[in-house]
Amino acid sequence: MAVFPTSRPASLVSSCTRNMHKYPHRVVSNRPLRQLWNSKIFQLQRELSSRKRLKDCFMNIDCSDYQKLYVEGGGFRQKDEAMEKAVKCQKKKLSYLPLSVTVAFSNKCMNKCYHCLNSSGTREKGLIKRHKQELIEEFIPQAHYIEFTGGEPLLNSRQEIGKIIKANPDKKYRISTNGILLDELGYDEIFDKTIFVVSLYGFDNSSYRRITGRDNFSRVYKSLINLIKRGYGSKIFIKYVVYKEAVSGLGRFCGFVKEHPSLKGVTIISDASSGFSVYPAMQEMEKIYKEDIFNWVYCGSSLRHRVANRFFDPLYCLRWQWAVWSCRRQNNN
Ligand code: SF4
Repeated sequence: MAVFPTSRPASLVSSCTRNMHKYPHRVVSNRPLRQLWNSKIFQLQRELSSRKRLKDCFMNIDCSDYQKLYVEGGGFRQKDEAMEKAVKCQKKKLSYLPLSVTVAFSNKCMNKCYHCLNSSGTREKGLIKRHKQELIEEFIPQAHYIEFTGGEPLLNSRQEIGKIIKANPDKKYRISTNGILLDELGYDEIFDKTIFVVSLYGFDNSSYRRITGRDNFSRVYKSLINLIKRGYGSKIFIKYVVYKEAVSGLGRFCGFVKEHPSLKGVTIISDASSGFSVYPAMQEMEKIYKEDIFNWVYCGSSLRHRVANRFFDPLYCLRWQWAVWSCRRQNNN
């Protein structure tokens, strides 16, 4: 399950921990998370995810491969096998809460990336009180894997994250960060229990600025180097998203990773909206950098696929629409 703040007094809630259901399929609600977990729309989301129909996914990516890659690559987007089994047996309602929870307490961020899925920025939108309380008191204590994301989770959710980790020390945590504040972290319980997944947008000042609108590349780079030198490379998993602007830095990035094999892992993932245009550069690099630390993910979609996505399966669309209506009706009650 993933829970994100919105500009309305409601949260964006998804059965997918990566929040990858497409826009028309997303649920924005202020109903209790417990009710949503077994609501019609979540039942349908789960059914679609378990069928692995790529067209249902924003990223056009096979979840099981991606999860495998994250688990083996040091992250832990764990596959919920019990859930898949329940769905296969036509069990629509689940008696347990999600094992994997992704939470964004705030969407505030110092970058202004054009691609940002969560519309993050300098204006803060926080999670509504009811959902925050439910997550801290019920969902997180029962989950096995917890991911903090944002916005930038190290910006102003640090205290909350610290408290959660202290109260539930036996879980697996990861923090998805842009890496800008890593240099401020001391060695505390957050640092001790967490894997940091650092998203890198380009590998030089100019491409970083073109993607994020800010000049933060040097700071991120210095933080990474400092942490690696201090012996914490195994806490860092880097995600390099190959936007068109970031293609030029790909070679330098791969060289950097090769020089620092103590890193936990690296995913080099093509930007879905760039289609196939970044594939040749990635394929060329993949031939050179064959070490296990490199994980290459190709998730562009063709124009045909993108158009087909809009007009596919009217029955499926109707079912979604019905689920959305019923969710809205319940919200209004
Ligand atoms: S760094 Fe991440 S959260 Fe911040 S604006 Fe960019 S994509 Fe959004």
